[in-house]
Amino acid sequence: MTGQDHPTGAVRIDTSRPHPARMYDWYLGGKDNYPVDEEMGRQMLALDPRVPVMARVNRAFMHRATRWLAERGVRQFLDIGTGIPTEPNLHQIAQGIATDARVVYCDNDPIVLAHAAALLRSTPDGLTEYLQADVRDPAAIVEGARKILDFDRPIALSLIALLHFISDEDGAHELVGRLLSELPSGSYLMMTHATADFTPEESAAAIAKLRAAGITLALRSREEFGRFFRDLELVEPGVAVVPEWHPELGEPVPGQEDGVIPGYGAVARKA
Ligand code: SAH
Repeated sequence: MTGQDHPTGAVRIDTSRPHPARMYDWYLGGKDNYPVDEEMGRQMLALDPRVPVMARVNRAFMHRATRWLAERGVRQFLDIGTGIPTEPNLHQIAQGIATDARVVYCDNDPIVLAHAAALLRSTPDGLTEYLQADVRDPAAIVEGARKILDFDRPIALSLIALLHFISDEDGAHELVGRLLSELPSGSYLMMTHATADFTPEESAAAIAKLRAAGITLALRSREEFGRFFRDLELVEPGVAVVPEWHPELGEPVPGQEDGVIPGYGAVARKA
């Protein structure tokens, strides 16, 4: 065995291979990553040095979309693929607008569970919960989320930079459909997703490197991304390159103007 398992509380962290949550933390300048994550992160930067800018731009979309939804009265959020806590987290944005907002976070990586306490510091009249679960098991997520979310009132389903880790064979489209089918009318889907549309060669190289390390990267075209929203009403401006979705709701990320950001974002409403 080449790696070691470091117990963090009751949680076992596999440091023998890179994990997306920890690589993303490294891109963001966080401390909750291991040499194996940094090594793979550096390989991704060698292919495209703008990966850290993309991570920040993605994070900034989450802030803007959460703000947009909270300002329109959405008070419940189900955020799957939460990642290692990075302030502000989704509940801090939502509760900053409505102190009674409720947020259920969910991730399948034990490193996120190890840091979940930071996600559970809610406002007194709001509520947050953390579920350790895999998005490929929507039934378990819905069952867990029902403990604090009212499924008779609108819920924003947040899948930010998650579904490019789920292949079509693993049922990416079906599981989103399944999750949406549980939500009442007036609910929303907010999503970002990486694409190979602008950088096909670098993307193919990244897919190969990650696959060799056991990570599936399922990049999708604009049309494939749009299919996730086919039964929903896209809100303006529809599917956009991530920094171009309601830029007025936040500050630009330094460096985002230096080239196209190879990811799409959108928010859509369930009729
Ligand atoms: N949504 C956050 C983090 C994105 S990184 C943000 O945009 O800032 C992608 C996250 O998805 C990681 O934390 C990873 O652990 C999680 N993830 C990947 N595959 C998953 C799966 N099958 N089920 C649940 N979470 C998953």
